Amino acid sequence: MSDTFYLGIDSGATTSKIAAVRADGSIFPSDLLQRPTGSEGGPEGVIKAWMGAIADYMAEHGMDWDQISGVGLAVPGPRRSYGVLATGPNLPESFDGWDVQHDLLEALREAAGRPLSLALGNDGNMGGVAEAHSAIGNDKAGVVMLAPGSGLGGAYIDPTGMCLDGDTLAGMEISHMAAPLHLLNVEALTCGCGRTWGCFEMYTSLAGLPYLLDLALPRHPGHSLADPTLGKKERVLKLRGLAQDGDALALELFDLQAKAMGLLVAQLTMTLDPSCFVIGGGLIDPEATTETFRDRYLGLIKSTALEYVWPTQKDVLRIIPASLGEQSQAIGAALVARLVVQSSPN
Ligand SMILES: [Zn+2]
Repeated sequence: MSDTFYLGIDSGATTSKIAAVRADGSIFPSDLLQRPTGSEGGPEGVIKAWMGAIADYMAEHGMDWDQISGVGLAVPGPRRSYGVLATGPNLPESFDGWDVQHDLLEALREAAGRPLSLALGNDGNMGGVAEAHSAIGNDKAGVVMLAPGSGLGGAYIDPTGMCLDGDTLAGMEISHMAAPLHLLNVEALTCGCGRTWGCFEMYTSLAGLPYLLDLALPRHPGHSLADPTLGKKERVLKLRGLAQDGDALALELFDLQAKAMGLLVAQLTMTLDPSCFVIGGGLIDPEATTETFRDRYLGLIKSTALEYVWPTQKDVLRIIPASLGEQSQAIGAALVARLVVQSSPN
C-alpha cells in the first residue's frame, strides 16, 4: 500500500508555503515550496494560488489525491469565527467576512474528487504544534512555544498535541500580559496594542527595542548608536551584530530581553505547568547569531525562570531552541489536519 499524507498550507500575506506529514505523524522531508498568495486577486485568487501551490508540491513529490487524507491551513489572525476571516492588518478589505473554510473545502473536493477534511488555525499556534512535535516526538508533555520577532508570538500545545485556541480564538496572547517591571528595573512602555501596563512584547521583541535603546544610551556615553544621523530602525538592526562583538550596551539590552522572557516562562509555568519551552525567533537562528550569543540568551532565560518555579518543575523544565525554521507553520497545519482526522469518530 502506498503512503498517505496530510498537507499543510501556511498562508502569509504575500507568500504561501506547503508541507506534508505522513499518516504516522512523521514529517515528510521536502524543500521549502513557496508561492505568491495572490491576495490582489481577492478571495478567489487566493484559493487559486493555494490550489496551484498544492498541485506543484504534489507533482514534485509524486503524490496523488488518493493519498491525501486531509489538509490544514494556517492563517494569520484575527479571525471572526472558525473559518471566517476578519480584516487583519495584512489583507485588503475584500477579505472581511470571507468564509475561507467553505471556499477551500469546495476547491479541495473538486480537485480530489471526494470531500476532504480541512483544519484551520492561527499560524502562530500551528507553528507551535510543529515545534512541539519536533521537540518531544511521541512523548506526552505540555509544550509552550515562544517566538519573539517584530512582536512576540506564543502557543500552548497540550499533551495530546493540540493547541489552545481559546473561546474567541485569542488564547495564548501572552505578548500582552503584564511584565513584572520592578524585577526588570524598567518603566512601563506603551505597547502597540494600546495597553500601558507594560506588555511582555515590549521587553522581549523588536517592538520595544527602539525605546529600550533610548533609555539605555545615556548610560553608555559616546556609544556609536548615539549618532543622530542613524535612523531608528537602522540603530535597532545594528544591535544584534554589536552584541556578537561583545558591545556592552547591546548585551545589556539582549540580557534584559532574556530576563523578561525568563519571567514569562516562569509565569506560564505557574499557569500551564508544561515541561518544555521552545524558543523561536531571530536571536536563536544559527544563521543570524553565534553559538556563544545563543547560549547566553537561552541560559539567562532558564536561570531567571528557575528562580521562580516550583522545585518539582525545576527538575523537568527544558528550554530549547526551535528547529523547523520557515516550514514550521505549514508542517503544523498538516499535523493539526492529521490530529483532527485521526481523532474524529468513524
Ligand atoms: Zn500589548
